Amino acid sequence: MSATDGAGSRTLRVRVPAKINLHLGVGPRRADGYHDVVTVLQTISIHDTLQIQLGDDAPSSHPASRRHMRVALTIAADGATAEVPADASNLVLVAAGRLMQHLGITPEGPDGPDEGAAEDGARHEAFATTRLHLTKRIPVAAGMAGGSADAAAALVGLNRLWDAELDAETLEDIAATIGSDVPFCVRGGSALGTGTGASVARVLTRGCTNWVVGIDRAPLSTAEVYATFDRLAPPSPSSPDAVLQALRTDDVEGLAAALHNDLEPAALELRPVLTERREAMLRAGALATLVSGSGPTLLGLARDAHEARRIASAVAPYFDAVEVATAPAGGPEFVPGRPH
Ligand code: ATP
Repeated sequence: MSATDGAGSRTLRVRVPAKINLHLGVGPRRADGYHDVVTVLQTISIHDTLQIQLGDDAPSSHPASRRHMRVALTIAADGATAEVPADASNLVLVAAGRLMQHLGITPEGPDGPDEGAAEDGARHEAFATTRLHLTKRIPVAAGMAGGSADAAAALVGLNRLWDAELDAETLEDIAATIGSDVPFCVRGGSALGTGTGASVARVLTRGCTNWVVGIDRAPLSTAEVYATFDRLAPPSPSSPDAVLQALRTDDVEGLAAALHNDLEPAALELRPVLTERREAMLRAGALATLVSGSGPTLLGLARDAHEARRIASAVAPYFDAVEVATAPAGGPEFVPGRPH
């Protein structure tokens, strides 16, 4: 959904879900430092929102045909997002940069010429600022791919607002240059990921599952979890087949028995309190628990939505925050809303 506001600028909002890994099998460290994984990914209904606003002060009616663009990011103030960088390392700006590179648009830095006229050889060309405003709800450094989701929101939203008209496959190719979870986040739904995780194939699912999401505000570094994984004895190879079968047949008990994460022992070693939290979830009636990705978010699978709410209130004292959510949760979507 795109709108022209009273100030003569175009605005849209993209809502993008977090992800969970229902199966995460990790191979040994490769010579290049990466690990091959086999993973079943699903989006889950905890969303970030990216508002994108394009100033209508440039002469070209087709933003993707512009040769210069300035992109500025702000982040909604919230204590829980203190460790989210607002500089060029934010994955929203990384994604905007990769998209501009693909489109042949030169990024203008904050100390470049002001909106209006950019010098380009003998030619003067006006350029506008695209303003991005990120509201985070996805826990940060929590194994839920929040940064990757935001990068996907930027790719999908800017492609629309700049009228770039890139197809989904091209966006996924650009996404793969940003991070291994980003192609999945562009697509959403349920998928089987292989290689470093960036190669994703859609999988068939029926129904949806209900989860209790136990949030720990102290981040856990993905790199540190992988380094600990490398130190521990390698797990025996596991297969995603039982998870895929449970998803195909909407079998919540089959799914509970099949959930698997090779990074869980490493996350538990780095965050021992997870053991106690896991027991609390199971005592409260979760069918199974799962560390989300590299953690420290702890997921509890519930039989239904009512059970999820009941378990969530029982385990609330063990976590910094607890949410209930459903999976799969679609992909990035355009939503209505008033511009900030
Ligand atoms: P991974 O995708 O590696 O599992 P994660 O889900 O555990 O990561 P993220 O929330 O993506 O963790 O954040 C990891 C780090 O990335 C943060 O500590 C932060 O420094 C950086 N980062 C960059 N851009 C963003 C963003 N838009 N939102 C959150 N973190 C970001």
